Amino acid sequence: MGKIVVLDEHIANQIAAGEVVERPSSVVKELVENAIDAGATKIEVLIEEGGLELIRVVDNGSGIDPEDCEAAFYRHATSKLLSGRDLFQIRSLGFRGEALPSIAAVSKVRLLSSNNDTGLGQVVVIEGGTLKENEQTAAPKGTDITIKELFYNTPARLKYMKTIQTELGHVSDVMYRQALAHPEIAFILRHNGNTLLQSQGGGDMLQVIASIYGINTSKKMVSISSENLDYKLSGYIGLPELTRSNRGGMSTIVNGRYIRNQGLHQAILRAYHTLLPINRYPLVVLMLDMHPSLVDVNVHPAKLEVRFSKEAELNAFVEDSIRRLLSEQVLIPQVVKQN
Ligand code: ADP
Ligand code: MG
Repeated sequence: MGKIVVLDEHIANQIAAGEVVERPSSVVKELVENAIDAGATKIEVLIEEGGLELIRVVDNGSGIDPEDCEAAFYRHATSKLLSGRDLFQIRSLGFRGEALPSIAAVSKVRLLSSNNDTGLGQVVVIEGGTLKENEQTAAPKGTDITIKELFYNTPARLKYMKTIQTELGHVSDVMYRQALAHPEIAFILRHNGNTLLQSQGGGDMLQVIASIYGINTSKKMVSISSENLDYKLSGYIGLPELTRSNRGGMSTIVNGRYIRNQGLHQAILRAYHTLLPINRYPLVVLMLDMHPSLVDVNVHPAKLEVRFSKEAELNAFVEDSIRRLLSEQVLIPQVVKQN
């Protein structure tokens, strides 16, 4: 008898949870991305105790078919990838079919969803990966998912959670990024009943910037718009006087996905070069749109990192676009010629 066995689904999910669900903010990110993929125009996130006690995400998206509500929690179960070829042309935020089973393995989940306007939907309750309930119930169209007691059955992970304030900070960051990436969606974030973010959803990115960074800051941002055969760039860049002490104010969004990319950060910094004091960073929100085949998002379980197939060209395009706009905006002291 050999010693190798295939892990059962329960253990496999707990292992995957270690990668996908690092902390409350990772749960919020995954659930909000599901709501965006479902075409929601309004997404409400309610959390308690930094998300450690409760995370609830309510959307008005497509909802889930009643017969799919349990299957959504199966490992590698997704409605977003139909063929292997799709993997190289991803247009949705999710595609790995890992979030729900991973989250359900380490918490108590209640999913309420309806894909129609009859007032009827399905409720599924799963605790620590075990199905407790799956039945028809009253539900408005859309999805309402509640995660309670995250990591209740993985005490080692729970021990690594920081203070409520720190976890809340991470959740807010996730929400800010999603709101910036999707000005067309109305986002609400409430913590213990207090509203921390409310975006209107009218599609105006400057309005979202104002709701996150404040009106005065938003007044010092100028809109950018630039295009070549492969890439389309839009968004807002801060005037050089608007400096920050860290890189956190450089937001890059690729095809509706907030990403972090060293090359793009460097390109932005090169464009601002000499305009910023040393160790200060600009505030920019850049939206890049490109054909999905030009970007590989299947690099990292949380999909925060991506790879670009024409990296050098992309970086040069971004750098040039920003530099051109800055040179128009910034009053460079003119040397007055004397006759
Ligand atoms: P993925 O997003 O990678 O497909 P998930 O585990 O996050 O995997 O979700 C599994 C499936 O459940 C999704 O493919 C989708 O069909 C369905 N689903 C999850 N959340 C929602 C939602 N808020 N609205 C509609 N469908 C959802
Ligand atoms: Mg998902």
